[in-house]
Amino acid sequence: MSRFWSEMARRTEPYVPGEQLNRTDIIKLNTNENPYPPAPGVTEAIREAAQGLRLYPSPTADSLRQAIAETEGLKPEQVFTANGSDEVLAFSFMAFFNPGKAIRFPDITYSFYPVYSNLFGVPFEEVPLRDDFTLDTEAFSEADGGVILPNPNAPTGIYEPLDGIRRILQGNPDRVVIIDEAYIDFAGPSAATLISEFDNLLVVRTTSKSRSLAGLRVGYALGQPELIEGLVRIKDSFNSYTTDRLAQAGAEAAFRDAAYFEETTAKIIATRGRSVMRLAELGFTVLPSSANFLFCTYPEADAGVLYADLKSRNILVRHFGKPRIKDYLRITVGTEEEMDKLFRALEEILEIK
Ligand code: PMP
Repeated sequence: MSRFWSEMARRTEPYVPGEQLNRTDIIKLNTNENPYPPAPGVTEAIREAAQGLRLYPSPTADSLRQAIAETEGLKPEQVFTANGSDEVLAFSFMAFFNPGKAIRFPDITYSFYPVYSNLFGVPFEEVPLRDDFTLDTEAFSEADGGVILPNPNAPTGIYEPLDGIRRILQGNPDRVVIIDEAYIDFAGPSAATLISEFDNLLVVRTTSKSRSLAGLRVGYALGQPELIEGLVRIKDSFNSYTTDRLAQAGAEAAFRDAAYFEETTAKIIATRGRSVMRLAELGFTVLPSSANFLFCTYPEADAGVLYADLKSRNILVRHFGKPRIKDYLRITVGTEEEMDKLFRALEEILEIK
């Protein structure tokens, strides 16, 4: 703590991301990146865009927003883009939530929400998940300041069907409900189909997972123009350009290649299915995952020790310290080869013949 820090800096506990090791000998299954490269056209689009780096990018990211709107069957004025969905979420807190009015999110959820709440002085209430880790959708009604939750949830991977999301939206007609769909492409239908019905719905997405562009930092929001305008007001107040030229061009190329997106997403879903079965054979209990990661526990081993044993074998997974989930590991679905190496390592560690 420094005496020079503002009130904001003092009350902020920064988010600690999963380890990022730039080593090729590591099997990195800890931050839910896509194991496959981005669509082949992305690199060429970025190379071309680099010719224009002398110039500022489009402040409204028109071309990229158009590509996203076409993909989603929406209008460009229903799309907002920023530097990763973390930035979209930060802008959303500023645009739609207020100090003094408590928002609600699940007690087990993306750990950035409490960070932003504290940063922006927005109080929060954590709504406990049920014993089976599903959402208690009734408990989100009439939230004083609004609602934010991921669907599928993180780190559980559990998907809430749209009926439940609809109940939450109906229970909060005068507050914004943010559905963070970072992993939706590996799951069931998106809440984006409810946008025409609900003016209080903001859907937040990322290109970091299903589009393989975590390094490019492009996130987006979908909603009725009134909500999108709220985000634009905030954005224009401190970095009117947000996404850069390379990011706009690269992400647009990814959205234009639907076939590659469908192929890689299907591969990950197939590997997920096989991995769930393999982990169960090894004795793990695995929560039903609709994401590109698995949340699992091994009854006879300490998850923290398992995490460390895997790390000593150059396999990185994620272990969270929070009491209710301290016995669980979150494992990103990698390539078939990466998962086979993980299973072999687990067999050795657990001494399974
Ligand atoms: N929301 C959720 C639920 C996430 O798990 C993540 C990734 N850690 C994000 C948002 C942020 O993704 P990005 O900033 O890379 O778009």
